[in-house]
Amino acid sequence: MRTTLLTALLIAATALAQPKKQPEAQPPVVDSGDSTKAPSDAIVLFNGSGTDEWVHADGRPAEWKVERGALICNSGTGHIYTKRKLGSAQIHLEFSTPNMPEAQGQARGNSGVYLQSRYEIQILDSYQNPTYPNGSAAALYGQYAPLVNASRPPEQWQTYDIVFHAPQCEAGKVIHPGTLTLFHNGVLVQDHVTIKGQTPGSKTEDVCQPNSLQLQDHFHPDVKSTFLKFRNIWARPLTSAAAKN
Ligand code: MG
Repeated sequence: MRTTLLTALLIAATALAQPKKQPEAQPPVVDSGDSTKAPSDAIVLFNGSGTDEWVHADGRPAEWKVERGALICNSGTGHIYTKRKLGSAQIHLEFSTPNMPEAQGQARGNSGVYLQSRYEIQILDSYQNPTYPNGSAAALYGQYAPLVNASRPPEQWQTYDIVFHAPQCEAGKVIHPGTLTLFHNGVLVQDHVTIKGQTPGSKTEDVCQPNSLQLQDHFHPDVKSTFLKFRNIWARPLTSAAAKN
């Protein structure tokens, strides 16, 4: 009996002597949103009303139109750029290409989203519309064709979910190039590809600096009526630790 009591006391004393385990830090809680709402920690770049976040290259307010919750490329007015400069980020946007059966290849619903105004992810109506593969929808233009063609027909909403790691720099020099992962309509189409450099038509300033997200006005004088639409555009900047390639 005495031994049992002694054992119990020893166990109790040992338990008391143990350092109290600190609760582990939990990941921050984020409301994930839905097809009409950005995650709660995202920077909302377009949510269906107003173009306050956007300007043209010369700084004038964006002249693209907002109709029924969509941002519509007002072809001929020029590309638009976010006022905010972005580094590495998760980016979501939705787009709908116009129905242009008379047009072929690159002339059918051409636009693009330029990461940091430097690296164009092609937007095109690539539904039953062959073109050179690294110029089709979801290509990193001129560098990588998409792994598969996940395009929907024109005038249907489609999604791009982008994970972009900006080039890593030291003393103003690139020590690791940037990378891109892209899901098109939820399908993996770019799998952590190494970005080879700026794509045609991009600005040429220091690639070590953050820069605007750009939407392309790929002007076609023969297209008169319906233009590309965008909606639900948001970005979640990656933290410095997560931003490493
Ligand atoms: Mg384009």
